[in-house]
Amino acid sequence: MKLNSLCSVIIIHLFVLQCLSVVCRSQDFDFFYFVQQWPGAYCDTKRSCCYPRTGKPAADFGIHGLWPNYKDGGYPSDCDPDARFDKSEISDLIPTMEKEWPTLSCPSNDGIKFWTHEWTKHGTCSESELDQRQYFEAAIALKRKANLLHALTDAGIKPNDEFYKMEEIRDAIKEGVGYTPGIECNVDQSGNSQIYQVYLCVDTSGSDFIECPLLPRARCGSSIQFPKF
Ligand code: 5GP
Ligand code: 5GP
Repeated sequence: MKLNSLCSVIIIHLFVLQCLSVVCRSQDFDFFYFVQQWPGAYCDTKRSCCYPRTGKPAADFGIHGLWPNYKDGGYPSDCDPDARFDKSEISDLIPTMEKEWPTLSCPSNDGIKFWTHEWTKHGTCSESELDQRQYFEAAIALKRKANLLHALTDAGIKPNDEFYKMEEIRDAIKEGVGYTPGIECNVDQSGNSQIYQVYLCVDTSGSDFIECPLLPRARCGSSIQFPKF
């Protein structure tokens, strides 16, 4: 083989290896968003809501999901069609999930659909770190570590339909939980901006909060309502 062709072969090999490493890395992720939702805001949107079959959830934040994310703001989804949600792996966690991760979508249901969706869309993208059981256990443990309602009420911010400033809400959570949250608002039928979801960031092991490499866009008005539930 001539020197020129040998070089070409080596360059092609290096190129293929480089491409493979990018493909492999694209299955990975940089951090998690741990997202909790305020049920009063979910129900105040035009979509309205339905209580789960187990009854009206407590007036507390509930888990929405634990979402693998990239530092550039992108995120992987639906990473493993073979990893079907298996209820039998978490049957002992279900009473806790009904309390901490209640579903509010209609029609009224038992939550399996919501948890299946979160596992399939997001959980399957962190399988290198957490299997299905560990994924749900991690989310439950994070919810216990970050008591948002406690942090807010300690600062006098209560779910009483009053309006608060974004900075007050952010500072109260930073003070109570230790990390700066991302706040997402919804707009109710009267045009009020309401606190809807709170994002905290978590390291790739799913166990420790970190400062967010990137906060989601807030889309909140200057005055934010904390609606009753
Ligand atoms: P929405 O468009 O309502 O903000 O989000 C719809 C869905 O897209 C979310 O429930 C979630 O599954 C996914 N999603 C939205 N934003 C993000 C994000 O920043 N990171 C990740 N990992 N998922 C997101
Ligand atoms: P994501 O927005 O995470 O991609 O998708 C949320 C999906 O779960 C939607 O299809 C939504 O209808 C369903 N879902 C079921 N219960 C809830 C709930 O309590 N809150 C939210 N945000 N979505 C829920």
